[in-house]
Amino acid sequence: MKKKEILLAAALLTGVISFAGGKGDKVNVRHNGKVISISANALAAHLAHGDEEVFQGEDGEWYTASEYQQYQDATAEDEEFEDNEDSGDEADEL
Ligand SMILES: [Zn+2]
Repeated sequence: MKKKEILLAAALLTGVISFAGGKGDKVNVRHNGKVISISANALAAHLAHGDEEVFQGEDGEWYTASEYQQYQDATAEDEEFEDNEDSGDEADEL
């Protein structure tokens, strides 16, 4: 059935998007000058010894929260992608 294939593809794509979005429990910090991925539960401990939480831009660079805000402002056209994610097929799920 064509429709089933489309639904499967949509489900896979949704999974890829949420994985790429990194909305899990992992966060990134700059630890001793090196960016590492840690559990969100460990964030406070890293901040306590002087690490900064960092976010990766699409250019591959790492930004602190305030830098990342500026980066996102500078690339505001990316918001169009967020709108696309919301156009999903929830009604089609069974
Ligand atoms: Zn650390």
